[in-house]
Amino acid sequence: MAVERTLSIIKPDATKRNLTGKINAKFEDAGLRIVAQKRIHLTKAQAGVFYAVHAERPFYDELCEFMASEPVVVQVLEGESAIAKNREVMGATNPADAAPGTVRAEFAESVGENSVHGSDAPETAAVEIAYFFSGLELVG
Ligand code: ADP
Repeated sequence: MAVERTLSIIKPDATKRNLTGKINAKFEDAGLRIVAQKRIHLTKAQAGVFYAVHAERPFYDELCEFMASEPVVVQVLEGESAIAKNREVMGATNPADAAPGTVRAEFAESVGENSVHGSDAPETAAVEIAYFFSGLELVG
């Protein structure tokens, strides 16, 4: 197993409800280390660039509005198989399908307002981390 880094976002529905600490506890309990973290308020255009892969999907505009509606916490998580491990801790995209104990099962409000984002592959993790953080901000 390799040590990896993945980009995580605590989304507006969760920051609004003051859930950052509870979500971070789940990451840390799973052995993921938060090696960078900052709270930012995305513009709709910045959210649009981040989610450009979904530009043709019917929910794209709603997703970008949502991501710009309140501050988010962007963070880099590090650990063995961090990408897969984080997605396990997150749970399925739709909270109705998320396994008990996962972030989305416990906190997500809907398939769109689902509390967290996590990179889905090493290539996307590298691009997503570079979108928000400089090398000097990653403190392993
Ligand atoms: P994940 O975040 O689990 O990797 P996707 O990459 O499929 O999921 O989708 C990205 C984000 O787009 C989701 O986390 C969610 O916020 C939003 N989304 C996905 N599907 C829908 C949908 N059917 N309706 C509204 N928003 C959606």
